[in-house]
Amino acid sequence: MATAIIMPKAGMAMEEGTVVKWFKAEGETIEKGEPLLEILTDKVNMEVEAQVSGTLIKILKKEGEVVPVIQTIGYIGEAGEEVEEAEQKSATEAKTSAAVKTESAVVTEKTAGTKADGDRGDDQYDVVVIGGGPAGYVAAIKASQLGGNVALVEKDIVGGTCLNRGCIPTKTYLKNAEILDTIRHADKRGILLKSTDLEIDMDKIVAGKNDVVKTLTNGVAGLLKSYGVKTFQGIGKITKDKNVSVDGKENIKAKKIILAGGSKPSRIKIPGMESNLVMTSDEILDLKEIPKQLAIIGGGVIGIELATVYSAYGSKVTIIEMENRLAPMMDQEVSKEITKTVKAKQIKVMTATKLEKLQEKNGKLKIYTDQGEFEADKALLSIGRVADLDALSEIELEMERGKVKANDKMETSVEGIYAAGDINGKFMLAHAAFKMGEVAAANAMGKNEKVILDYTPSCIYTMPEVGCVGLTEETAGKTHEIAIGRFHFGANGRALASGEGSGFVKVIIDKKYGEILGVHIVGPAAAEMINEAAALMSMEITAYEVSEIIHGHPTYSEAFMEAVADSLKKCIHKQRPS
Ligand code: FAD
Repeated sequence: MATAIIMPKAGMAMEEGTVVKWFKAEGETIEKGEPLLEILTDKVNMEVEAQVSGTLIKILKKEGEVVPVIQTIGYIGEAGEEVEEAEQKSATEAKTSAAVKTESAVVTEKTAGTKADGDRGDDQYDVVVIGGGPAGYVAAIKASQLGGNVALVEKDIVGGTCLNRGCIPTKTYLKNAEILDTIRHADKRGILLKSTDLEIDMDKIVAGKNDVVKTLTNGVAGLLKSYGVKTFQGIGKITKDKNVSVDGKENIKAKKIILAGGSKPSRIKIPGMESNLVMTSDEILDLKEIPKQLAIIGGGVIGIELATVYSAYGSKVTIIEMENRLAPMMDQEVSKEITKTVKAKQIKVMTATKLEKLQEKNGKLKIYTDQGEFEADKALLSIGRVADLDALSEIELEMERGKVKANDKMETSVEGIYAAGDINGKFMLAHAAFKMGEVAAANAMGKNEKVILDYTPSCIYTMPEVGCVGLTEETAGKTHEIAIGRFHFGANGRALASGEGSGFVKVIIDKKYGEILGVHIVGPAAAEMINEAAALMSMEITAYEVSEIIHGHPTYSEAFMEAVADSLKKCIHKQRPS
């Protein structure tokens, strides 16, 4: 007889869970104790193990579905076994459980003024969010936490650029690049492989990336549902009467609107740009072939990260950058170090180079620049991003350099309409978008909050990584009398033990008060380490205080403490200056 798989009750308060991912397909065998599926409870993602061995004969609840606890979600039995009878039983259970759920929703409404099942029966929402990326979904959840009746409109898949075609896909690929790099250099540590003749299966690489993306976007969908956010699929537009239409049809009445439409790749008008061989980051992440020669137009963060990826996959990469250095927005020393490491990977770097035209010929691209021409199989256009203004065709908002103008409360020029995340261009990173989304929601719900982005870290996930926060030496020097502290990873025990001794930590402090103005790290785990610097800076901890904090040994973070001590001329693990 088949054994029912049920949505477990993983905590006293858990009423329902979301099926995030089935690890087995129908017809596959499973052993007792083996992970069977992943679920999202109201707090965490967790794996559910098979209670018996057998064949997964039926999946009743698909990925993304929210299911009340103890309801049957599938069956394990013998191969070929029928489950019709069992399904009928499950349907009855579902009805009962739905009735229970409605009752409990009414109770919630009485106590908290809201229902918990998404549609609260009110024809006007307290907050309507347009866009389900980091700014939008966080805004929706925050508004709901504050007691709001919230709707969210998303034209694509929740999770936005970050989860679907940005932060997460690129980091999945960069992990592959790191693995390849480790294998290729294993001999330096005495680990001798019989052959380093690797084969890269792009179908599997893309599928692996898509799996990670799906897990996370399903997680976001589950979170929104758990907070009772009503989600509409389609293009949301703010109407003249300050409501929101979906695909020109449905009219959602809104007390307040949060615009979180994010951004899309910027394009330039250069002859040949329309060729199918020219991609943006949106397309390249689904490419199932490895271009022999790849031209990357734009040496900013996205260009550098994808150059690292494709060079590791085997492409011969050339980066063209109009400015005179890579990552031109970063501290000059950081740019210099990145250029050094990128060149060490045989990536060709053409700075101070202007792209003039592209020409498609015999399935290849001829790239013409003011510094000469070369051939490539594909080109990646990564010259920046522009605001996605799809939501704005019926209403006018004040703009600033192509982005929606918003103040530090995320208020736009029109009362009751807020703009958070990439769309306002303040700081085009996911973690800044999270914060802006939260503040927009708080203010839409009647609070009075401001976003402070001064201590927002920026990272590049290359090998080694880059992490920066605060002012560069160039900008700090214009307004402060500064002292600089440096510490190289070549003198850091953990880094040397790991074969990661290149790079440095650079700290810029205000000489008078010891205030830390900027921290710039190129080195192992820089994207993790920078959060310590950001936390201390936002708490206004001085360089004197940081130099007294005992850091664990051996850790990469000791290099930060040593660099701070160096700025005060009291670094122990650095030779006395001559
Ligand atoms: P988005 O994530 O762009 O989300 C906007 C959402 O709104 C989208 O889902 C879109 O479909 C939807 N939308 C737009 N208009 C409408 C409409 N009218 N109706 C309905 N829906 C609409 N940031 C980091 O912090 N770390 C990184 O490592 C990092 N890596 C990146 C790598 C790449 C390749 C790229 C492209 C970006 C990367 N970013 C990274 C930047 C990060 O992705 C963005 O800063 C972040 O996603 C911005 O969030 P958002 O919510 O403002 O906008």
